[in-house]
Amino acid sequence: MSPNASSRTANGRRVVFFDLDDTLYDHRTASRAALRALRDDYPSLRRRPVEWLFSRYAQALETGHRRLMAGRLTPANARVLRMRFLFRGAGEELSAREATHRMELYRTVYQAHERSIPGSAALLRSLRRRHRVGILSNNRTREQRGKLARIGLAPLIDLLVTSEMTGWAKPDRRIFTYALRAAGVEARGAVMVGDSWAADIRGAIDAGMPAVWFNRDGAPLPEPLPVAAIARWTPAAEAARTIEGRFPGPNSS
Ligand SMILES: [Mg+2]
Repeated sequence: MSPNASSRTANGRRVVFFDLDDTLYDHRTASRAALRALRDDYPSLRRRPVEWLFSRYAQALETGHRRLMAGRLTPANARVLRMRFLFRGAGEELSAREATHRMELYRTVYQAHERSIPGSAALLRSLRRRHRVGILSNNRTREQRGKLARIGLAPLIDLLVTSEMTGWAKPDRRIFTYALRAAGVEARGAVMVGDSWAADIRGAIDAGMPAVWFNRDGAPLPEPLPVAAIARWTPAAEAARTIEGRFPGPNSS
């Protein structure tokens, strides 16, 4: 590597931070497939639409996640509680043993559907020609590393920051400050890209970072903030231009 090449990979390069779940990692598709499998096997769920199951399960994930991150629940217990909460909503009470059994089906189908959001790898490759790429995620470090490895994106990530590492979760400004410091850039030298308006977009704006909302459903902007919205990562060059356009300075569009 020539001295020039190595200077270009030093901290002078700007950083694009991505949320992971449902921004690069397609949790939603895998979760829906797993819930469909449960519905096929268990009559109590049969009258419920998949969207009802999905939002009930997401609610359980959210509640359990907070207790998990606070160290008040083990991952295995969190899974049992999620399954019991899901079935309770459909009028069936599960023993811990039965919940564990049904969770195994959920996990098997979920893992079989694990994938990145289409176009993610090409987008990251395109961005990394000019910038560094980081992950900024509210989750456990080991779990997020595992997901990145399994969906093939790990070699495309320069930096990983999780709520578990820092003790703060998005939208807390302190996790953004931590990430910027870890990357060695100012807020204006970074862009935050994510699907959660409350955590990723509000959080970034409050921390002084430009933001891009990954809006797969084409929903209206919840509030009039100066952010770009994008519905898909293909074509990669176009998505990269939208993201890079948020950097202040000569290359903004
Ligand atoms: Mg997300």
